[in-house]
Amino acid sequence: MGGLVIVLDWLRLAMILVFILAVVIFILRFYFVPAWKKKKILRAQSYCPSIMLPEIDKKFDAPIEVPSYKNDKIYKVNLFLQTCTCRRFRARRGHFPLGDVRRLCRHIRKELMIKRTVFGISEMLQCIIEKRVRDKCYIEVEIYGNKIAIGFHPKSDFVRIYTRKKETSDLPDEPLTGPYDKYTLIVSQGAWVYGAPPVVADRVLEVVVDLLKKNRALMRNKRNNWKFWS
Ligand SMILES: [Zn+2]
Repeated sequence: MGGLVIVLDWLRLAMILVFILAVVIFILRFYFVPAWKKKKILRAQSYCPSIMLPEIDKKFDAPIEVPSYKNDKIYKVNLFLQTCTCRRFRARRGHFPLGDVRRLCRHIRKELMIKRTVFGISEMLQCIIEKRVRDKCYIEVEIYGNKIAIGFHPKSDFVRIYTRKKETSDLPDEPLTGPYDKYTLIVSQGAWVYGAPPVVADRVLEVVVDLLKKNRALMRNKRNNWKFWS
């Protein structure tokens, strides 16, 4: 009889422990992890510049149904508010401000590209959107009259350049007129990977080296002054 009582007590204790553990995991998974991710994104915004979309007319403030690429789910996209009901948007993309190119999940990107001429999305922006907006920071610069976007992260040695190709009719000192393409640069080696370098590669490298130096210093500064609870 006494033995049975002890077993029951242990069983009860084990159940209580499992319950407490489940509650802790639940709080971590659904409160602390999302809060931590959101903080990280907000912090990155303080040292990462970005490229903005043109303003979208209020008449596009209506839900559009966009099917999932993976399963039979349907997501609701609003182009005016740049919102989507997909998980990626709710967990990550949606923390970026309205108009920020990094806010766009694949469903918003798809709808934007369909109406790109209506919204006046530049060819440079189209190239970034088509390449899936994978960079942490974006900046637009002008080199010899060419509008060039640089996608980077202050910590990374890999930088993406979005610039025009050369058209055969382009004159040597005139801005380029070919279509935009993405180029990848390993900064420390000055090496272009995944294809040929862009036309003004040497000047681009100088600009990128300078840019990374500035942004690395800025990031270090922000990091030293950053607290999770602030
Ligand atoms: Zn989405």
